[in-house]
Amino acid sequence: MIKLSARGVVKSYGDVAVLKDVTVEVADGEIVALIGPSGAGKSTFLRCVNNLETVDSGHIAVDGELVGYREVDGCLEPLPDREASRRRARIGFVFQHFHLFRHMTARDNVAYGPREVLGESTAAARGKALSLLDRMGLTGREHHYPHELSGGQQQRVAIARALAMDPSILLLDEPTSALDPELRVEVANVIRELARDRRTMLIATHDIPLVEEIADRVVFLVDGRIVEEGPAAKLLHEPGHDRTRAFLARMTG
Ligand code: ADP
Repeated sequence: MIKLSARGVVKSYGDVAVLKDVTVEVADGEIVALIGPSGAGKSTFLRCVNNLETVDSGHIAVDGELVGYREVDGCLEPLPDREASRRRARIGFVFQHFHLFRHMTARDNVAYGPREVLGESTAAARGKALSLLDRMGLTGREHHYPHELSGGQQQRVAIARALAMDPSILLLDEPTSALDPELRVEVANVIRELARDRRTMLIATHDIPLVEEIADRVVFLVDGRIVEEGPAAKLLHEPGHDRTRAFLARMTG
């Protein structure tokens, strides 16, 4: 079953075309890595999938439902806020810079969505938060505020927060790149574990060793266009394009 279907996505900021006809599919249980030089449009693409940005043209659907729009008489119209929020709640998003609620403890950051968006009781939402924080190796940090946590710990809280919504797909935007190497390992370990559980993920990252370990498929994006995509082992070791080869040599050399 296809979890994410993004077809012909086009997005510009003013005169600058950032995504030029990007088509990506992610199947249930599949882990797809989006790689490419800075400025390629990886983050913009993830933001379009999550409806944090509107697309100029193209279709994005999660679980077969359009994201942010509905089709009426063959035309797309923006969804009412309530319905847009309901659909967005099914898409987990992990940001490079964590974006935790600063005034909430780790537990309350994770419990917020289940309580406020899914309507779970406070007790149930907190219970879920504690068990997810435990899974992230954060037992003992539940009552810490973000500023009392390291970057790696904050990112793990952010991952727990995304998982608390039981998302259909988890989007991760450079989840390890704001972190020092030793903290990066903690976050990579958590992502590795999610991959072992076959959590459906689309991850934008420069961490090629992590991609090699966890990704089923890799999409290589340059200047808003897909240059090459394919099974991870093939693309990383026998790329079909010079640009892919040159990029990988730069990243791993
Ligand atoms: P990547 O994640 O691959 O590094 P981004 O999606 O962040 O690439 O950026 C792609 C291009 O879009 C860059 O040239 C960037 O400057 C531009 N861009 C991203 N966000 C905005 C914005 N809000 N306004 C204008 N330009 C933007």
